[in-house]
Amino acid sequence: MRSSTKTGIALTAALLALPVYAQNPLNTHNHGSATVQLVQRNQELVIYVRGTGVDMLGVGHLPINMEEQTKLGQLERDMRNPPFWIGLPAAAGCSMTRYYPSQHPVVAGRGALQEMSPGKVYESNGEHMDLNFTYHFQCTSPNQLSSAEIRLFKHFPSLQTVNVKIAGFNQKVVAVGPDNPVVQIP
Ligand SMILES: [Zn+2]
Repeated sequence: MRSSTKTGIALTAALLALPVYAQNPLNTHNHGSATVQLVQRNQELVIYVRGTGVDMLGVGHLPINMEEQTKLGQLERDMRNPPFWIGLPAAAGCSMTRYYPSQHPVVAGRGALQEMSPGKVYESNGEHMDLNFTYHFQCTSPNQLSSAEIRLFKHFPSLQTVNVKIAGFNQKVVAVGPDNPVVQIP
């Protein structure tokens, strides 16, 4: 595995210097920005959340000590409870059937890589990591899914923008912020 302190510093500098992947707001690693995708098919609603380690955890790497491990564990427990971070209309009757948190290193020019595992050394083993959270819901009245309130800003104060992609019959991407956290679903 090619990895050294020097490589880590070089990659970090490159990542900080470039507005990486800025062309596609759904595939960026920009501190202060996160992505939420909602995909609805019949009764099933799938939600993907991606944020940076720096915004959601305060660090851009996999936990390297007990304190960071505890923080990651707490974050994954908090995020397991959807109302912690998203408000969906109660009338839609959505209940979670699956939850899957994961961590992904970010490498300059290549974006987020495969899932990280503890104890493994990564090229970007410095400062950049994406945190992903995947949810599956079954909704009794999916036609009542008329809006979503993004509550991530309350918990992650460095977060300024969340790009919300609604995928389905009418696709749209909306950027929300702390002052306008509600997305209307077409
Ligand atoms: Zn980062």
